[in-house]
Amino acid sequence: MSPGMPVVDDGKLTSTNPATGETVGTFPVATAADVAAAVARAREAGAWWAALGFAARRQRLRRWRVRFAQRLEEIAELTHREGGKPVYDATLEAASAIEHIDWAANNAKRVLGPRRVRTRVLLAEHSAHLEYLPYGVVGVIGPWNYPILTPLGSIAYALAAGNAVVFKPSEYTPAVGQWLADLFAEVVPEQPVFQVVHGLGDTGAALCRSGVSKLGFTGSTATARTVMAACAETLTPVLIEAGGKDAMIIDSDADLDAAVDAALWGGLSNAGQTCVGIERIYAVSDIHDAFVEKLAAQARTLTVGVDGEQLGPITMPGQIDVIRRHIEDALARGARAVVGGPEAVQPPFVHPTILVDVPDDALAIREETFGPTLTVTRVASADEALHRANAVPYGLGGAVFGRRRAVELARGMRSGMTSVNSVLAFAGMSTLPFGGVGNSGFGRIHGEDGLREFTVPKAITRRRAPSPLPALSFFRKPSHERTLVRAVKMLYARGPR
Ligand code: NDP
Repeated sequence: MSPGMPVVDDGKLTSTNPATGETVGTFPVATAADVAAAVARAREAGAWWAALGFAARRQRLRRWRVRFAQRLEEIAELTHREGGKPVYDATLEAASAIEHIDWAANNAKRVLGPRRVRTRVLLAEHSAHLEYLPYGVVGVIGPWNYPILTPLGSIAYALAAGNAVVFKPSEYTPAVGQWLADLFAEVVPEQPVFQVVHGLGDTGAALCRSGVSKLGFTGSTATARTVMAACAETLTPVLIEAGGKDAMIIDSDADLDAAVDAALWGGLSNAGQTCVGIERIYAVSDIHDAFVEKLAAQARTLTVGVDGEQLGPITMPGQIDVIRRHIEDALARGARAVVGGPEAVQPPFVHPTILVDVPDDALAIREETFGPTLTVTRVASADEALHRANAVPYGLGGAVFGRRRAVELARGMRSGMTSVNSVLAFAGMSTLPFGGVGNSGFGRIHGEDGLREFTVPKAITRRRAPSPLPALSFFRKPSHERTLVRAVKMLYARGPR
């Protein structure tokens, strides 16, 4: 058994460190009946939580946030031990999650609470009211690569909106998932508002079929299809945060030193196991060679190892074969490795690998690699860069480095988010929505859209005066019908032709 492979034995799931094989946590595996029971408990807890109201929920969520921040080092250390990522990467991830809890708690009432909206002339005797109600129970299925931030991007927003949550963490990171829920239970001890169910894919499948009112899934595009098919059986709405193949465009007026720094962080931090990690770089011809030279020189300085190094192990042992295959396939098709190459793959580690001259049909250009590799492609212009960046079925995030045309290029990128002159900044910006297009999924976490994602809009009209034009009545007069026609012509028949 490779280190890092979760072990299921006698109804228990045990997670291990991917570099050392050390046991990190053991948890009971939830059967379909256990998942159904958790959802039934959550149904009751959700009603209680919703009835608390925005102010009381805000207070509890803020207490959760305080304890979380007080124990930042503890969760960073646990995430390092269970998933292998460097402690600093885990600290940054937790810091970002704390920011999201804070924003969701503080803004739920403003975004979701009851408000009057404008009436329109034809229904002027009615007032219009809108509020966003919780679904009840939201199921969340999470991945291992960002076991704190990714699930909390759904969970914190679902909770702030007034839902109960049943969370199935990845089998690679159950202890981190349990830690999050245990900490929440300290500040909400009355009811099981946030529960965790552990297990493999079949536990996730059971959650899809358990009668949750909505399911938030984060994981690979392949599993997303299975999840959607299961949810379709019961018409359970789904949010899909799936994989990516993010591109970085470097225009000729870019600050190259800043671009190199960002490219390395965007592509190689967390050992490249980042859904919005940079995997493909398109550099305009006049700066291409200088950029590659600087990138390669800096990439060679990065350290790889278990403790205190800049790149940790590959968390999921099976992913190592995918990374190796992508590197070998690119080289077989004529690419060159200016840093790393097949010999960079030294399980459980993969050392930085920079590939140039990679043809467009190579796996390293078309499919998610999820390792510390970058391809750099020379392009004649920023327009060509944009065209090639957009020519994959994924569309999650991306980055543009440049001055004059940077924002225009960012707007043209086929993705849910783009950072200009930085990488990944959008993930920590709690005011902005996060999610993909195409094979990267649909729906949004974070920001106002992320709060609304876990709610049902409730619309109410209230009649406040007799109707001057009783259009919705069998007992209207012929004159009312003539007035209706006149009103429609007056309001809508004039304007652009
Ligand atoms: P997987 O798709 O393998 O697994 C995701 C989750 O789904 C896990 O909890 C897994 O459980 C569970 N699962 C597996 N099979 C089923 C099933 N049949 N029904 C229901 N649930 C199931 O993804 P990874 O964990 O490997 O995560 C990496 C992927 O996640 C990458 O593609 C990455 O890009 C993407 N990702 C996307 C993000 C985004 O925001 N768009 C953010 C982070 C990652 P188990 O682990 O027990 O098999």
